[in-house]
Amino acid sequence: MEFSFQRSYRGPLKAILLDWAGTTMDYGCYAPAVVFVQVYERKGVPISVEEARVPMGAHKKVHIRKISQLDSVRDRWFQAHGRVPEEQDVQAMFDDFVPLQMNVLADYADLIPGTLDAVADFRARGLKIGSTTGYTREMMGLLQSEAAKRGYEPDSTVCATDVPEGRPAPFMCLQNMINLQVYPPEAIVKVDDTIPGIEEGLNAGMWTIGLAKTGNEIGLNAQEIAKLGPAELKSKLERAYNRMAQAGAHFVVDGIWDVPAVLDEIAARVRRGERP
Ligand SMILES: [Mg+2]
Repeated sequence: MEFSFQRSYRGPLKAILLDWAGTTMDYGCYAPAVVFVQVYERKGVPISVEEARVPMGAHKKVHIRKISQLDSVRDRWFQAHGRVPEEQDVQAMFDDFVPLQMNVLADYADLIPGTLDAVADFRARGLKIGSTTGYTREMMGLLQSEAAKRGYEPDSTVCATDVPEGRPAPFMCLQNMINLQVYPPEAIVKVDDTIPGIEEGLNAGMWTIGLAKTGNEIGLNAQEIAKLGPAELKSKLERAYNRMAQAGAHFVVDGIWDVPAVLDEIAARVRRGERP
């Protein structure tokens, strides 16, 4: 056979999958960061907020383990305990983490400005709205009710604890496809503020949009960002845009308010037969 033919999807976009902290709520993705610092402090090993943010997006227990694997943290742990951190330490810190996180979650539950308008735009396009998160189901229950009070209720929410493996594995995205009954992955867009969250969407075969300004990459809330000088803001944004683009995000924008315009572009690419 001299020629073969390839099937391509050219239909409408069907769903959008939104991350939670740093994407739709908790500008700067603070709630987990502050608690990771606390659980290490309780073990006599101080860590910086920057160190706490490195693995952001992962299942929270995996996140604690990944912090313990940073060279700088391992060295400090060794100085404090005379040995490197082990799995039992990770488990003990996760046991500490859960109640501490539950206590502060509601303090960081405000929606990121523009979320409700963006969600209304997605609905007007006929998109179903799914979500994924590194939070556990217990934490998410609290956040979902806080979000609902503020007017945001996605059609599906999948937590890292609901699937065999969290980010960067694609399983939370795939579970959303089942919950929302939508396919193919080329008709779905994943939006996230972290690199593992972008990889999750890519591994699921979906379009991905990275958010550079409102999440973990800059790691500052709206008031703190407003205080930055123009040069400092520009350099922080450039770094975030580059990191997300290099992770493979199809598009990178400042925040969720920029997503509707990108959906027009993705829809046009799909109509031309392009795939993510
Ligand atoms: Mg996030």
